[in-house]
Amino acid sequence: MRITLVQGDITEQDVDAVVNAANSSLLGGGGVDGAIHRRGGPTILADCRRLRATRFPKGLPTGQAVATTAGELPALWVIHTVGPVYSPSEDRSELLASCHRESLRVADELGARTVAFPAVSTGAYGWPVKDAARIAVRAVRKTDTRVAEVRFVLFDERAFTAYGEALRAAG
Ligand code: ADP
Repeated sequence: MRITLVQGDITEQDVDAVVNAANSSLLGGGGVDGAIHRRGGPTILADCRRLRATRFPKGLPTGQAVATTAGELPALWVIHTVGPVYSPSEDRSELLASCHRESLRVADELGARTVAFPAVSTGAYGWPVKDAARIAVRAVRKTDTRVAEVRFVLFDERAFTAYGEALRAAG
């Protein structure tokens, strides 16, 4: 599997699946979530509402992932995952790693070969970006998957630099 990095907007990526840094409600939010729903149109939210009514009445648990269609996005699917809120007093890195592992497992189920990830948990959920980058890169590296390309799509230069350093450090 190849790991690539781009600085840009995840909604513009020409990949099979884009990962959404969703919240547990699956009913939309700010950041990446807001951008995906705005750009992808109402069918994504309709799919999310169906998931809430059927598989996840209490919401999608932190660290898990589930797919919907991608509406008008260039991608075919959106894989929604719920990152952990950063805590300085509790180590939640296993949940952040799980978001990446579970998203790739869902991608395998879909047959997606190219998957774009945002910097999960580093926005509203407050995770320090260097630490999140190290956890994300390591989790993706360690996952056994048929996905051929994982593309981290970083919105700003700071995140882009942090993920670049994490990738180099991982060797
Ligand atoms: P979380 O709630 O998991 O922290 P956010 O969406 O608030 O998720 O932020 C995650 C990261 O995504 C942040 O680094 C933010 O700058 C970035 N981001 C926001 N919009 C986009 C976008 N359209 N494409 C890619 N990354 C984005």
